[in-house]
Amino acid sequence: MDFAKINDLNDKVAVITGGAGVLCSEMSRYLGRSGAKVVVLDIAEEALEAISKDLDELGVEHLTIKTDVLDKGSIQNAANKVLSEYGRIDILINGAGGNKAEVTTGPDKSFFDLPEDAVKWVFDLNFMGTFLCCQVFGKIFADQDEGIIINVSSMNAFTPLTKIPAYSGAKAAVSNFTQWLAVHMSQNYSTDIRVNAIAPGFLLTEQNRFLLVDEKNDGLTDRGQTIIDHTPMGKFGDPEDLITTVLWLLSPGSEFVHGAVIPIDGGFSAYSGV
Ligand code: NAD
Repeated sequence: MDFAKINDLNDKVAVITGGAGVLCSEMSRYLGRSGAKVVVLDIAEEALEAISKDLDELGVEHLTIKTDVLDKGSIQNAANKVLSEYGRIDILINGAGGNKAEVTTGPDKSFFDLPEDAVKWVFDLNFMGTFLCCQVFGKIFADQDEGIIINVSSMNAFTPLTKIPAYSGAKAAVSNFTQWLAVHMSQNYSTDIRVNAIAPGFLLTEQNRFLLVDEKNDGLTDRGQTIIDHTPMGKFGDPEDLITTVLWLLSPGSEFVHGAVIPIDGGFSAYSGV
């Protein structure tokens, strides 16, 4: 192994779903800076324009393709465009995901009233979006006998968090599926296809700000404070904290890491609270 080149992604083609969002746009920029050709798939057109501008400014070769990860035809179209432009695909990061305020229990919303369509939306976006992209891009990896998949799970996949049952369940499904697909790819296709997941802990982003920060009081919500109290490192994470782990999972330095779900959580999942 050439240790000097361990984080060198030169000439690799990396597809990142949800790559225009808060966490994955950071990944898109860093993968680009590390030499990869970056393909951002996202449903949000304005956000795609913004990340394209960033990548242009960084001089990163890239494509942005409006894609719905819940529509297999849309994913297949995107895959075809990438193959016709770059000829191959090396990396898939399944970042599209998230929660919805309507599926969050609270004083005004009991578990018994959580709307079915919103529960399904959260489940589909996190689990089916990952599953369908693994089908489309996983087939390309199977045909070329190599590829790396990183799914995005969450801390709540290990132990569910209060208030967000659909999101917790969907991310548990993502972790479970990551293990399943790792075994399936090795046994049926190639041991040069690796499948892992990252499980970010509490990173402060637009997705969860309403749950963690009390803008009026210029401080934390009770929930935000509880999280900090339960995080041995005593802080929320920053999107950049994910990057080094992702680069490691993409590098030959992790070539025996397969079917793993890696926590990036300041020790949250290691702490029993006692
Ligand atoms: P985000 O909302 O900023 O990014 C998600 C992106 O997915 C958005 O750009 C959105 O347009 C896109 N998207 C939504 N529906 C889509 C669809 N049908 N097809 C294609 N793209 C679609 O959220 P984020 O905080 O950056 O989260 C990114 C990932 O990290 C998600 O999977 C999230 O569940 C996970 N995660 C986040 C945290 C956190 O603290 N923010 C913690 C653990 C896991």
